[in-house]
Amino acid sequence: MSASPATAEKTAETTPFDPASVRGDFPLLGVEVGGEPLVYLDSAATSQRPRAVLDAERAFLETVNSAVHRGAHTLAAEATELFEGARETVAGFVGAPPEQLVWTSGATAGLNLVAYSLGNAAAGRTVPGHAAPGHPDAAGPWVPGPGDEIVVTEAEHHANLVPWLELAARTGASVKAVPVRDDGTLDLEAAASLLSTRTAVLAFSHVSNVLGVVNPVEQLVALAREATGGRALVVLDACQSAPHLPLDLPALGVDVAVFSGHKVLGPNGVGALYGRAEVLEALPPFLLGGSMITTVTLEGAEYLPPPQRFEAGTQPVSQAVALAAAVDYQRALTDRVGATALLEHERALERRLREGLRGMPGVRLLGDAGEGVERVALQAFEVDGVHAHDVGQLLDARGVAVRVGHHCAQPLHRRFGMTASVRASAALYTSSDDVDVFLDALSGVRAYFG
Ligand code: PLP
Repeated sequence: MSASPATAEKTAETTPFDPASVRGDFPLLGVEVGGEPLVYLDSAATSQRPRAVLDAERAFLETVNSAVHRGAHTLAAEATELFEGARETVAGFVGAPPEQLVWTSGATAGLNLVAYSLGNAAAGRTVPGHAAPGHPDAAGPWVPGPGDEIVVTEAEHHANLVPWLELAARTGASVKAVPVRDDGTLDLEAAASLLSTRTAVLAFSHVSNVLGVVNPVEQLVALAREATGGRALVVLDACQSAPHLPLDLPALGVDVAVFSGHKVLGPNGVGALYGRAEVLEALPPFLLGGSMITTVTLEGAEYLPPPQRFEAGTQPVSQAVALAAAVDYQRALTDRVGATALLEHERALERRLREGLRGMPGVRLLGDAGEGVERVALQAFEVDGVHAHDVGQLLDARGVAVRVGHHCAQPLHRRFGMTASVRASAALYTSSDDVDVFLDALSGVRAYFG
């Protein structure tokens, strides 16, 4: 007799997830590095892809490959169907309707899209037909001007900082940063005092790629709405949360959010930007050219509505199809083992990693958040007296792949008095054995350097 759906779900959720059950799906996890079995702890930089993703891209290229939209032939129609179907799947992954999901080449491209679009709006470019040019709200109240402010945090990846610095330089606005506390959490009191009706944009990461701390998005959104009188555009960098947490971007209340395909078991060269409908409607385009217009004359052009307005040029079709396969893979896995079991696995890895590092003499964690602070399984640290690059090389000799350097977060490293750190990061295929081999290899590093 088969179990009722409710019983099946309960059983699935209370059975711990064993990553051994999926590791065979990821061909790369089986390789050896320098004669040692690979221990891959660099998933925050890029995740490995399951065979289902590799197969989906290959099958598309071998049997359907065509440019999408406007094609008169069968393959172009099939490619268009797959491409738009992929949009639906990936939008569903973040709880959004497909027309609110813009394909980008990744999170960096998505953040630049918003910043440059605001810069274009500040220069007087509006979307024809959206609002009369010259109207103060033609492209939304969030367009920065001289004396306005763009608020970020000290923990941002350069992708969520440099485009805002450039926008400020172009518009006469300035950039202010919410400080990070010693434990890696944001100083929310400081955030409240930094936000005001002068704030045009609040941009922050859901999860820092160095600290692993999950920032309180809803609280920050509420703060921004209140302190800026609803003015600020709230932009979320969901690059490091999308791989670890179930996301419902509309429910989080942000105006815009971005993430990258290659960090969520998908391919390189594709990512997505979610935007609230009114925001996408009001923003002028960033990239211009084919695929985003209705009519072009030698005098001017009319643009397509979103999302196509922001998708100039030939689209990353095979990548979008493969990203949808990554979402399907994760959905099937969640259905099979239960969302709770996957989250528990993540939490167990996070604890093992953090406690193992914390207990090691000479190791200092960046942002050592205590209990009660939600985190994902990634942790940056330094080893007393040993340069991060040397640590990385010694770990590599044991087959352990970690990231070293500033992880595109120089201001954050400066805040912790460092120039570089080592970062270990996990994904759903990471096992507790991976963490143990890493900790064992790391314990030999200080001994080696005496
Ligand atoms: N934001 C965060 C928090 C990241 O970790 C990264 C990548 O490491 C990015 C943005 C940029 O992503 P991409 O290089 O895929 O555009």
